[in-house]
Amino acid sequence: MTKLIDGKQVANDLKVQIASSVKKLIALGITPGIAVILVGDDPASQIYVRNKQRAAEKLGIDSEVIHLPATTSEEKVLAKIAALNANPAIDAILVQSPMPAQIDENRIQSAIVPEKDVDGFHPQNVGALFNNAQDYYPMANTPRGIMTLLNEYMPNLVGKKALVIGRSILVGRPMMAMLNNADATVTLAHRHTTNLEQLIADADVIVVAVGKPHFLKMSDVKADAVVIDVGINRLADGTLVGDVLDDMPDSEQLLTPVPGGVGPMTIATLMQTTVELARQHSTI
Ligand code: NAD
Repeated sequence: MTKLIDGKQVANDLKVQIASSVKKLIALGITPGIAVILVGDDPASQIYVRNKQRAAEKLGIDSEVIHLPATTSEEKVLAKIAALNANPAIDAILVQSPMPAQIDENRIQSAIVPEKDVDGFHPQNVGALFNNAQDYYPMANTPRGIMTLLNEYMPNLVGKKALVIGRSILVGRPMMAMLNNADATVTLAHRHTTNLEQLIADADVIVVAVGKPHFLKMSDVKADAVVIDVGINRLADGTLVGDVLDDMPDSEQLLTPVPGGVGPMTIATLMQTTVELARQHSTI
């Protein structure tokens, strides 16, 4: 069997550390607080939001979900964000995407003050990530969680050939920056890339965030490669699969399973960032 990277275990270890940090903060009179804005009734988004709220509650983090109807105007969402920006009980603000068509997600993300931008989407935080700034700034949680996983399974990324497939703002672009900051040699591939097969065959680390079942086959990657499967795809029969097909049952390659790989890390890392923001605010 291809060796599976245990995202659940690493996420659980991280949660133990977070719970201990929360306890210490609460003893100092600081309870970290996260607010999640959900607009509309997308079923997958509702599940994601519920999972985030549950994770927060389990760790002792205050959570508030603001659920608005699908017809909500952009102005109304901006007004909610302004109120949360000004609320000292809230350390982290998250707007669940996708938003309905009448709302410009970029405008919404930029309206969150950078100090409460738990997803790391604000241009100031994106800039800090790309500059590899020394000061603290929040960064996108899915790629940051992947960096935590890689730290367990491939701790030295210096000079490694890293291939990121997919260039979304949520995953691919910040992933490229984080791997670059760790001194890997990074290639960002996307739908117009013409030599993908060659890039895949050559890479030491591959992060696949495309959203297509079985997009990458383990038989196409190097024998000692680490493959991170970000994809979440539901097949017609209801099965949940990633973007990677594990067709190398006897190999020594490392792969994140779906589910149980990147998903649990994303949630745990979101909580980690929330607690860090609370700590930042306590010293301001
Ligand atoms: P997206 O859907 O916004 O973009 C997909 C990217 O794939 C694009 O940049 C596109 O250029 C690239 N792409 C499409 N076809 C390609 C091809 N043939 N060759 C090379 N590149 C191609 O991406 P996203 O929001 O990053 O989501 C990707 C997947 O990851 C989805 O399945 C999503 O559900 C999942 N996801 C999982 C988590 C998690 O926590 N596990 C978090 C975010 C996203």
